[in-house]
Amino acid sequence: MAHGNAPRVRFAPSPTGTLHLGNVRAALLNALYARQHNGTFIVRIEDTDAKRTVDPAAQAILEHLAWLGISYDEGPYVGGPHAPYYQSQRHATYEHFFNVLYEKGYIYRCFETPEELEQKRAQQRALGLPPRYGREGLKLSEEEIAQKLANKTPYVWRVKLPDTKISIYDLARGTIEFDLEHFGDFAITRQDGSFTFLFANFVDDYVMQISHIFRGEDHLSNSAMQAALYYLFNTEQPTFYHLPIITNDSGKKLSKRDFGFSLQDLRESGFLPEAICNYLAILGSSFEQEIMDFSELIQHVHINKHSPVGTIHYDVEKLRWVNQQWIQQLDAQDVAQRCRPFLETVYPDAQQTSDDVLIDLVHTLQTDLVTLYDVVTVFAFYFTQPEPQQAWLDHFNINEHRAFIETLYTSIDWSGSPDATFTAIKQTVKDADKPMKSILSLLRLALTGQPQGPGIKQLLHLLPEDSVRNRIQQLL
Ligand code: GLU
Repeated sequence: MAHGNAPRVRFAPSPTGTLHLGNVRAALLNALYARQHNGTFIVRIEDTDAKRTVDPAAQAILEHLAWLGISYDEGPYVGGPHAPYYQSQRHATYEHFFNVLYEKGYIYRCFETPEELEQKRAQQRALGLPPRYGREGLKLSEEEIAQKLANKTPYVWRVKLPDTKISIYDLARGTIEFDLEHFGDFAITRQDGSFTFLFANFVDDYVMQISHIFRGEDHLSNSAMQAALYYLFNTEQPTFYHLPIITNDSGKKLSKRDFGFSLQDLRESGFLPEAICNYLAILGSSFEQEIMDFSELIQHVHINKHSPVGTIHYDVEKLRWVNQQWIQQLDAQDVAQRCRPFLETVYPDAQQTSDDVLIDLVHTLQTDLVTLYDVVTVFAFYFTQPEPQQAWLDHFNINEHRAFIETLYTSIDWSGSPDATFTAIKQTVKDADKPMKSILSLLRLALTGQPQGPGIKQLLHLLPEDSVRNRIQQLL
């Protein structure tokens, strides 16, 4: 590698849709690598394909990275609003490299329509041959080309692949050799004159002096073709690591249909950015201590020859566990702040709930939260009028105890401290020789609607006095 010592790595998303877990893992591992080696982490938006680019998607990607806490050193906005890290702004650079290939005679025009090409591929497949471009463009005479140009027949430029074996170096796999004989000459431009992914991606990696390319295993054959470009430009290649494909429970590539495929879904379901990064970084390897913050991940998660190759299984339950661990280790104030939007969306009253109350709720119930969204059910008793099921009321003999609970309700001073009120309740039950468990369970049903959950003392602490009285009255 002729790139000096400090690595330069990049995350190069195409803004064609939602950021998914495979992308996030690629971004994260690149960022970790840069931080581990005092390197530079670059973000580059690959938006050369106008047909596939969704305008706000690039913004969403950048916002997601910020939310995840993944920062970059070069990229959109870092060098000002015109920082040239959108491929759509870099046409002149690609043109320059295109001209080099053109002058050396390494590229040629192809005039086939996409339909013609598809027909040929279908024929090749039918014959059991690998579908590959048959170099028809290369066989055209000067006159034929001039004729087609005069007729304004649309065309693309293809690279005439050298007839050679070529190898790349992958950190986890070692040297991988490809015989370019097995690859078809690929296009570097589209009919509309824009440059293809294979070419623009290569030029940028070259110009931006990328030393390491960490990207999904689905790019392995692209790496082979791009290795041919490094060869034609007579320049040294970066080191690769092709990240394993993430699979779902049935062993298939994780897709839109799988829960958690899209980062947006995970955010909306109350997963923490820390937990998502933590989970994606440890995925596929084993670590003695699994819960790690970003600086610990930098210390412990390394890409090397032991890194997983092939596929890795995405296990939502494990992600949930990591998330729960993270919620437990954050302080209540932090959790309360992060929970608030989830509560406010479902319970408009939550807008009036003070931070102190939310913090108290979190304090008491933090261990019940696996995701932040769980506050919607776990805190429901606070924001909604409980509706205990008759079956539970019967289970604790409401009819038998109603009169006693009425006495209890009128005899107790509800305005004292939660501790004092709770002591008084217990004393009254004891004095009347009533079954403690049934009475407390009925009170809990009154206060929360649920047979299980926080203790009465905690509820007295959490709920305002008038709600407590109200709810017991409702029961009666
Ligand atoms: N734009 C490509 C993608 O999103 C980039 C892959 C890469 O080279 O990292 O798949």
